[in-house]
Amino acid sequence: MDTILVVNAGSSSVKFQVFSVEGASGLGRQMKGQVDGIGHQPRLRVSDARGVSLVDRTYPAETISDVAAGMNIAGEWLREEQAISPIAVGHRVVHGGPDYSGPVLIDHDVVTRLAQFASLAPLHQPHNLAPIRSILNNFPNMPQVACFDTAFHRTHGPLADHYAIPDDLYKLGIRRYGFHGLSYEYIANRLAEAAPEISHGRVIIAHLGNGASMCALRDGLSCESTMGFTALDGLPMGTRSGQIDPGVVLYLLNERGMSGPDVQKFLYNECGLKGLSGISSDMRDLESNPDPRAALAIEYFIYRIGLNAGMLAAALQGLDAFVFTAGIGENSVRIRSKVVERLSWLGAKLDPERNERHAQCISSAASRFPIYIIPTDEEAMIAQHTLATLGNTPEMN
Ligand code: ADP
Repeated sequence: MDTILVVNAGSSSVKFQVFSVEGASGLGRQMKGQVDGIGHQPRLRVSDARGVSLVDRTYPAETISDVAAGMNIAGEWLREEQAISPIAVGHRVVHGGPDYSGPVLIDHDVVTRLAQFASLAPLHQPHNLAPIRSILNNFPNMPQVACFDTAFHRTHGPLADHYAIPDDLYKLGIRRYGFHGLSYEYIANRLAEAAPEISHGRVIIAHLGNGASMCALRDGLSCESTMGFTALDGLPMGTRSGQIDPGVVLYLLNERGMSGPDVQKFLYNECGLKGLSGISSDMRDLESNPDPRAALAIEYFIYRIGLNAGMLAAALQGLDAFVFTAGIGENSVRIRSKVVERLSWLGAKLDPERNERHAQCISSAASRFPIYIIPTDEEAMIAQHTLATLGNTPEMN
């Protein structure tokens, strides 16, 4: 059986999935696993497609000290205990910079180019590249494909791609890239199947998870996003501030004596739902907590989704459909209901019963546009791209 390994490497964990290749372009999920606690309490856990545990093993900290070592252990387990040797590995890579508008077959030159984008995503890009380098060195003949969170947004026009800053900085790469692109691309494909007449229209997708952003699509292509140069922008998130006046950053640096790394840590890890509530970054915790600070954080999240929906509807000059996805968007009946209420000025109307049972279409017949829940699957998107790229030349601007 041919398989594809999908890898999503972060700072202290590597998540991976194995897909079987079924027929020309069909894919079936076989396994889902991760190595987490890297550097302090490494643990390998893998389950099969039905969620049944296949392994749960801990390792001494010194044997898995970095992400590449974590991937090596997972690879060894797949090869030696499951007899899985994939025909290719697909990687989630956060930043494709201005160059890559689609997935790319990896070689040493590509890795060098991607390493240059590390300064644009210092918290993610080096970790994404670590297992790529390790596989390139240990298995030089293994095809590897990089799939980017930014690529889907390369269809943005110049107005959406620029900040109002001098052009030399734009040329240096200070642009509004947008992220969560693999999720949006997956949803755009699903929408084309579920509602072909809508998929050519003006659609807003709200990806509401720990990380959260929204994307405006016209004709299935991204034309605007709430995230820009980094994944800090736009909506408030679990621990990220979302949109904030750059003057606040200057104030923290100049008046509060914080260093650049202090501010970075603060904006990525201490703000958002966690900072505002002082309770938790997790929406489930906030929904079940009677503390008024939890309610404020939830209301703020919904308010900002509403504001950003207005902005994206203006970018699209209208709205033909709205889609919820990711952890909160797929699961929280209450958040969806409150967001739709915020969109009522645009003509949105919920069918509460459909919302309650997480139906695919949750709008009522009286709604001016349909509202959908479409579960996202970034790993399946990576597997599809990897399979398609095996026979293709890299797609570049
Ligand atoms: P990530 O960005 O890490 O992939 P997810 O898409 O898994 O995040 O989303 C995680 C978020 O989804 C958390 O805030 C979690 O509380 C929220 N979530 C998951 N299930 C529910 C639920 N049933 N009700 C409310 N929120 C939920």
